[in-house]
Amino acid sequence: MSTSERTFIAIKPDGVQRGLIGPIISRFEQRGFKLVAIKLVTPPRELLEKHYADLSDKPFFPGLVSYMLSGPICAMIWEGRDVVKTGRAILGATNPLASAPGTIRGDYAIDVGRNVCHGSDSIESAQKEIALWFKEEEIVSYKHSQFDWIYEKP
Ligand code: UDP
Ligand code: MG
Repeated sequence: MSTSERTFIAIKPDGVQRGLIGPIISRFEQRGFKLVAIKLVTPPRELLEKHYADLSDKPFFPGLVSYMLSGPICAMIWEGRDVVKTGRAILGATNPLASAPGTIRGDYAIDVGRNVCHGSDSIESAQKEIALWFKEEEIVSYKHSQFDWIYEKP
């Protein structure tokens, strides 16, 4: 549960097209997490196939990959205490119909195939996904800021 824990959060093409970049960023910012990398990308098919490699034998895999290729994705890294688990809670359940109101998917989606956002499901997946989507030089450090990050004070 270190304060430097990181997770990979992506706003999927439907979320970007629907104007949900701002609201989604706001939820992570307002909760107290720190944005350390962000970019809009249209990744190659191979990257998405690697990203979802664990699901490659599922019947929905081809549709999932073409959905992810349907427009720009907003890829982000968020940092902070227990951010992987809390990030998943902020997103809501995979199937939006099972997502509680107040979560991103529970407020903005009804279709599992158009569920607006992605979040790493474990620290190990987060590390893998961050390495897949970002170069080290795309990640900022707040180390030299004049002030401590308010939420990380003991
Ligand atoms: N998905 C789908 N149909 C399903 C299950 C998953 O289209 O029956 C899609 C959905 O967009 C989901 C993604 O595949 O977000 C990855 O599935 P996973 O089980 O990893 O869910 P997540 O980690 O995104 O909650
Ligand atoms: Mg997943």
